[in-house]
Amino acid sequence: MEKLEHIGIAVKSLSDSIPLFEALLNTACYKEELVESEAVKTAFFSVATQKIELLESTNPDGIIARFIDKKGEGIHHIAFAVTDIESEIKRLVAAGFIVLNEKPRPGADNKLVCFLHPKNTNGVLIELCMEKP
Ligand code: ZN
Repeated sequence: MEKLEHIGIAVKSLSDSIPLFEALLNTACYKEELVESEAVKTAFFSVATQKIELLESTNPDGIIARFIDKKGEGIHHIAFAVTDIESEIKRLVAAGFIVLNEKPRPGADNKLVCFLHPKNTNGVLIELCMEKP
């Protein structure tokens, strides 16, 4: 893995949370993006070479809505940048980790992404992400 790329935070409302994080981080949100396949609206902030990604569900049954119902708003996942996502998935599967998608899929912010099941990672949902070629 290259570096911590971003931390994903589940929020109920981007329109409430974007100004909150702009005030907190003292920087403007640089991108909002809908990811229809995941039923989420995302908003990104740069903090040095890392990012914060806010996630709001677009659907009451969506993955973020269900997360908030169970645990409330808060940290949803931690994402690491990788240079070759396919070989990193193979390495992790061989090491016994469970990937939620064996084929990388399109994520927000021009990335291919893959998630690891949190039951093998001390309860932390891990995202691998690679800049789309
Ligand atoms: Zn993410």
